[in-house]
Amino acid sequence: MNDIERLRDIVKSSRSIVFFGGAGVSTESGIPDFRSVDGLYSQQWDYPPEQILSSTFFMAHTEEFYRFYRAKMLCLDAKPNAAHIKLAELEKEGKLTAVVTQNIDGLHQAAGSKRVYELHGSVLRNYCMKCRKFHTAEYILESEGVPRCECGGLIKPDVVLYEESLDDDTVSGAINAIHAADTLIIGGTSLNVYPAAGLIRYFRGNDLVIINMSPTQMDSSADLLICGKIGEVMSAI
Ligand code: NAD
Repeated sequence: MNDIERLRDIVKSSRSIVFFGGAGVSTESGIPDFRSVDGLYSQQWDYPPEQILSSTFFMAHTEEFYRFYRAKMLCLDAKPNAAHIKLAELEKEGKLTAVVTQNIDGLHQAAGSKRVYELHGSVLRNYCMKCRKFHTAEYILESEGVPRCECGGLIKPDVVLYEESLDDDTVSGAINAIHAADTLIIGGTSLNVYPAAGLIRYFRGNDLVIINMSPTQMDSSADLLICGKIGEVMSAI
């Protein structure tokens, strides 16, 4: 039996799959990840991406933050790929209970997924730090320099920056889903970003599947390890 057939079998016999993913899920939609060879860490900026995407940097160099953010994080033309679409279908069929994602691009919801725990927030939500008014991603994209609210307040993306903590309700929802799952599929993530990557330790189910293009620290624990493009793999099952 080949890997795709094994994955198909696992999915068929599962009743509550949870998918845990990261930036690699959206590379086939044209959004660069961080750690692949053509990822954002390999591109030249005045500061490393993890420094730009930190809370300290946001407050101290807001204009530079937004220059990077508009150019690299706001990919509003990107469309869901085969992986996003397959996961949404599995939820509709009653097989998949939740997607837990480190992504901030909103593509799982765009594909039709309903229960999505966005551990790192979303570029689609932005709020005024003074009056809390909500602003769209288009508002941020079309603004110049530092985006400001009508009240004059600074607008911040509802994205968890480095040095900030994750939202408690999102984390508990994700932990409960992972803990109750019979199958956990991990895909498109280097599992390098904490505390997000630590949530997979709550898995107690039967089958741990990893679909990734490069090795991860969890590979030796996987019941099924597939090295490949997640969109291609998911569309083949
Ligand atoms: P990462 O860049 O650290 O790792 C991506 C992993 O996905 C790598 O191991 C790579 O080999 C693999 N990969 C790339 N394309 C793949 C594909 N088509 N199929 C299978 N595997 C593929 O990303 P991470 O682990 O998510 O951590 C980085 C952080 O970056 C996250 O916190 C996330 O919030 C943020 N981020 C998000 C986006 C987005 O929302 N699309 C984009 C860039 C970064």
